[in-house]
Amino acid sequence: MASFTPEEDKFINDEFEKIFQFCKGCKDGKNEELIRKSFELANKAHYGIRRRSGEPYIHHPIAVAQIVAQEIGLGTKSVISSILHDVVEDTDYTISDIERLFGSKIANIIDGLTKISGNFDALSMQAENFRKMLMTLSEDVRVVFIKLADRLHNMRTLESMPEEKQQKIASETIFIYAPLAHRLGLYAIKTELEDLSLKFHYPTVFQEITEKIQATEKQRLAYINKFTMPIINKIGETGIDYSITGRPKSVYSIWNKMQTKGVPFEEVFDLFAIRIVFNPTSPELEKRESWSLYSIITDIYQPNPDRLRDWVSTPKANGYEALHTTLMGPEGKWVEVQIRTKRMDEIAERGYAAHWKYKGSNDTEGELDKWIKEISKLLETPESDALEFLDEFKMSLFTSEIYVFTPKGLLRRIPKGSTALDFAYDVHTNVGNRAIGAKINHKLVALSSVLNSGDQVEILTSEKQLPQREWLEFVITAKAKSKIKDSFKFERKNNIEKGKELLEKKFEELNIIITSNIYRKLLAGFETKSKDDLYCKIGRGIIDLKSVNKILANKSKNKWIKYWQLQIKKTTTTKKKKTENANKTKKVELIDNVDGTNFTIAQCCKPIPGDDIIGYIDENDKIIIHKRKCEKAVKLMTEFGDKILTPEWKSQKIYSYLASISLSGIDKIGIVNRITELISKDLQVNMRSIYFNSTDGVFDGRIDLYLYNTYDLDKLITDLKKINGVNKVIRVGN
Ligand code: MN
Repeated sequence: MASFTPEEDKFINDEFEKIFQFCKGCKDGKNEELIRKSFELANKAHYGIRRRSGEPYIHHPIAVAQIVAQEIGLGTKSVISSILHDVVEDTDYTISDIERLFGSKIANIIDGLTKISGNFDALSMQAENFRKMLMTLSEDVRVVFIKLADRLHNMRTLESMPEEKQQKIASETIFIYAPLAHRLGLYAIKTELEDLSLKFHYPTVFQEITEKIQATEKQRLAYINKFTMPIINKIGETGIDYSITGRPKSVYSIWNKMQTKGVPFEEVFDLFAIRIVFNPTSPELEKRESWSLYSIITDIYQPNPDRLRDWVSTPKANGYEALHTTLMGPEGKWVEVQIRTKRMDEIAERGYAAHWKYKGSNDTEGELDKWIKEISKLLETPESDALEFLDEFKMSLFTSEIYVFTPKGLLRRIPKGSTALDFAYDVHTNVGNRAIGAKINHKLVALSSVLNSGDQVEILTSEKQLPQREWLEFVITAKAKSKIKDSFKFERKNNIEKGKELLEKKFEELNIIITSNIYRKLLAGFETKSKDDLYCKIGRGIIDLKSVNKILANKSKNKWIKYWQLQIKKTTTTKKKKTENANKTKKVELIDNVDGTNFTIAQCCKPIPGDDIIGYIDENDKIIIHKRKCEKAVKLMTEFGDKILTPEWKSQKIYSYLASISLSGIDKIGIVNRITELISKDLQVNMRSIYFNSTDGVFDGRIDLYLYNTYDLDKLITDLKKINGVNKVIRVGN
């Protein structure tokens, strides 16, 4: 049997002992004995096994236990479960062994962890897996905490995984685990997960931003000092025990802002955030003393009244408490100041575990429990599509909340952007299904009206009302959507059958033999996603079968469509026969070529040569090219890791790609002329469409162009910016 060197054995023991420094309660009573017992078992079970990186396998469970104790702040049971978390899955030990040795509680947690682990390539498995994970929330929330710690350690050591695995794991992390950490209030872990995902998805971007942060550090510190000096002096006079810090935004949040707002690093980074953490004189005075600090600071700097956030009086759903205000600092820069007590700070960084600690027990009551109950309710809906649910769940994770009141004055918390109808469904499915109108603050409004915090909402219902299709266009909550869809599912089934019959009749009439080619043409011609979608639209009468002839006759050869050929080279030599988890590394080159079109440019993100891209093999074996950062691509990478290719552009400047730019500025006479002249004459770029709109002396416009690559596009943008009057030029669409 393979074994470790004495140095390795010593290292393993030292790392294990560290857990006791991080977890105070782990030494109490029988706890220490049990933890040592779990370590002995795990060490024996994993003995001689190494991770892909070469280090002893046991490093991983120990590291997970350290994260659980130190970074999440959980206690003995969680530490033991972390140490044992891979034992049942990877070794000969069974759940009943664990139960016999450590009791049913720990056995249950490990069972939960084992169920939600593993690598799932198929889409449905993934969603199912995720559903399982959420189900376990209601059983024991520690399962999810440990799962997050497990994922965090795997992300920290992702370097040694093969490239394809890295991409898949990083996608999953950004798609599921980071939002989950956020929802559980684990701010520090969420941030690290996001940063690590970015590092593996865009190594260059990550490095660039990291370097820029370091390069601007001095400048930033100088400004923070200048800003905080008067505050420090003033608070010093009061004798309050406090600390003040100004820390940089995370790499991911900077990148995210740059992407969504289309602004350069410098503009994002020019935002400062300062945090004041203090020790209240007594727990009861927390609130009052937070506000007196607020008052001291706003005596020095002018606050922006629109940006005051009081999460001390009403904490966020994930437990977050703090006062936030934005002040006008020196040099006219806005600075955000967060005021928290030590307790609030710990909750903000470490989430619910810290919450319990302050409550003095393992009290899982409160907000988290409410949230878990909501999720469980949704999961109980038997027919709700697991994947759709995943999508909508993700949406609801990202939205923050507002507070509204029922006619009786009860407070309800719903996602920001919710409409009156969302509120109706939140109250009860029957209230939603029967809703005909609403009163917001006693005024009659449409069901689609968006609610604001503080609104009092009353729903008007009628027994004759039925859910309407248009409702799906404006409701935003997962609950409302799934309830409305449920009521349509039955109807859809009927329409599909009807549509199929009608189409088959039509084919008979036209004397056409049905081939997959014909279906492909029809799907594209009617802009439908699937056969069922096509049938359903026919059944509902949205698609007129009269145009079938025309579509089938159409030789869809748009002159702008580019003809490329894909050459697929397998770079890995297939030494072994097909093993279960064989890693297929496919390298694909996109080469200009006049014959063949076995791939397509995705319309959602319209990549052009020079963009960082991925290829996805769809069900018809067509390869669809997306930008790597396209939201759809991230999803595809998560769900179909094995169908993702990494193609490379090999542009030979023969054909061109469609890209769009938007621009705005001061409307001067002739400016549109100048712009179009620059594009078509000076740079010899083809425009497909151009649109300008001018109001009150300011114009904004959008131009669709044909280009060869990103280099040309960048040059065009630079040149356009030079035109007098043009203010902003950005590429549109991701
Ligand atoms: Mn693990």
